[in-house]
Amino acid sequence: MNTAASRSARRAYIAQLRVKRIFWICLFVVIALFPLVVAAINNTTNGTWRAVPREIGSFAGMLGLSLMILSFIPIMREKKITSAFNLDVVYKFHHSCSILGFWLVVFHLVALWINNQEIGRLVNIFADYPLYMKAGPIALLAAGCLVYFSYFRKELKLNYDYWKIGHSLVAILMVVFGLIHTFGVNYYSGNALIHGYYVFLTVLAAIAILWLRVFSSLSAMCKPYVIKEVLVRNNATTELRLEFAGKGNQKPIRYHAGQIAWITVRHSRFSFKEHPFSIASSDIDQNKIGFAIRELGDFTATIKDLKPGEIVYVEGGFGIFNPYILGDEGFVLIAGGIGIAPVMGILRSMADRKDRRHVVLYYGSRDKESIGFYDELNELSKKLNLEVVHVLEKTDDPSFEKGYVTKDVIERHYPKNKDRYDVFICGPGPMVQIVLPALKKIGIPKENIWPEFYDMA
Ligand SMILES: Cc1cc2nc3c(=O)[nH]c(=O)nc-3n(C[C@H](O)[C@H](O)[C@H](O)COP(=O)(O)OP(=O)(O)OC[C@H]3O[C@@H](n4cnc5c(N)ncnc54)[C@H](O)[C@@H]3O)c2cc1C
Repeated sequence: MNTAASRSARRAYIAQLRVKRIFWICLFVVIALFPLVVAAINNTTNGTWRAVPREIGSFAGMLGLSLMILSFIPIMREKKITSAFNLDVVYKFHHSCSILGFWLVVFHLVALWINNQEIGRLVNIFADYPLYMKAGPIALLAAGCLVYFSYFRKELKLNYDYWKIGHSLVAILMVVFGLIHTFGVNYYSGNALIHGYYVFLTVLAAIAILWLRVFSSLSAMCKPYVIKEVLVRNNATTELRLEFAGKGNQKPIRYHAGQIAWITVRHSRFSFKEHPFSIASSDIDQNKIGFAIRELGDFTATIKDLKPGEIVYVEGGFGIFNPYILGDEGFVLIAGGIGIAPVMGILRSMADRKDRRHVVLYYGSRDKESIGFYDELNELSKKLNLEVVHVLEKTDDPSFEKGYVTKDVIERHYPKNKDRYDVFICGPGPMVQIVLPALKKIGIPKENIWPEFYDMA
C-alpha cells in the first residue's frame, strides 16, 4: 500500500469535507438571514424603523419561521449534504434548527407583548379576531408540541413509527399556519422580496418532503434486494445477508465499508417504516449487502423471523468515514455492543482486499458470552494485521481487559504513530461520551476521530 499517496488523498478528502461544510453553513446563514437584511435595508432607506421591542419581535418572528421551514431541508438525505456531514449531524441540525425556531417565535410573542400588552389577548384562539392572527398562536402551539413530543418521546414511550407520522403532519401544519400568519400580517411580508423568499422556502421544504417520501422511495423500489440468509447470532443479534434482485437497467446501491443504509421490509417503501443500519458485510461485491441487527423494539424483533426470498428495499450508503481514503498507517476501531456491525463491515472488506494496514480494535461487551462475532474476529486476526482488545464488564480472565473502554485501556494498546491512524467509534451513547474525551486527553487530533452515533431520532 502506497502510504505517501494515500496520505495526500486523505489530506485532500479532509480539506474537501471542510470546504463543503463551510459552503453549506454559509449558504444556510445567508438564506436564514435574508429577510432580516432586506427588512433592515428597507427600514433604513425609508426611515421606517418602529419601536425597538416591536422590531426585535418582528425580526425574531421572521427568523423563527425561516428556521422552522429550513429545518425540513436536511432530512431529505440528499447526497450532496450527506457527503459533507454524517447523518447524525444532519439530524441534530434539524433538531437544533426547529428548537431555535420555536424559541425565537416565543421571543417574538414576548417582545410584541412588551411593546403592546393588547397582544396577550391573541393567545386565546377562540376570541373574535381574524384567522391570520389566530394562525400565529396555532403555529406556536404546533411548534411547542413538536419540540415537547420529540424531546420526551422515549419517556412517554411513544411508538417510533406513529410518532414519526404525527411529527411530520404537525410540522407541515406549523409551517402552513406560520405562513398564513406572516402573509396575513402583511407588514414585512408585504415586501415583494420577502414575500417571494417565503414562497421560495416553502417550495424548497415541499421538495424536501417529496424527495424523501416519493423520490427516495421510488428510487429504493428500483433497487430491490432479496434475502439470501438469516443467521441468528448470540446476544439477540441476527445477521441478514441480501443480494441485489434488480432487473434490466436497475443497479444496486453504491456503498463502501463504514457506511449505513435505510431498510424497509414487509412494508411498502412509501410507508414511514424505514430503519437505519450499519452495513456489516464486505463491500467487495456491490450486488451483496448485509446487516447485523440487534433486537431492540418492534421492528428489530421481527428480523429473526424473516425468510430467504423476501424482498428488502435499501437506500444508501450514507456516511463520511471512508476506509479507502483514511488511515495512512491503519485504524483504531472502537466498538461497543452492536456498534461492532460497521466494524465487521470494515474488517471483512479489508480481508477481501488483502489490506495489510494495521488495525487495533477495542471492543466493549458485557461478558465473554455476549461478544459478537468472537470466532470470526479470531479468524480475521490471522488474515489481517489486526489486534483485538476485548474489554469486558465482567470477567476474571486476565487475557481480557476488565471494565470499560477508558483512557487507560485505550492508552495501553494505542499504536505509536498516533496521527497516522484514523479512529472510528461506534457504540452506545455513554461509551462514546467516555471515549471522545479520552482520545482528546491522549492527544489524538480531532480530524482523526470519526464517531458514529446510533441515536439520531
Ligand atoms: C446511524 C444508525 C445506524 C444503526 N445501525 C445499527 C446496526 O447496525 N445494528 C442495529 O442493531 N441497530 C442499528 N441502529 C439502531 C436501529 O436503527 C434501531 O435499533 C432500530 O431502528 C429500532 O427499531 P425498532 O422498531 O426495533 O425499535 P423501536 O422501539 O421502534 O425504537 C427504539 C429506538 O430506536 C430508534 N429508532 C427506531 N426507529 C428508527 C428509525 N427509523 N430511525 C432512527 N432511529 C430509529 C429510536 O430512537 C427509538 O426510540 C442504528 C441506528 C442509527 C441511527
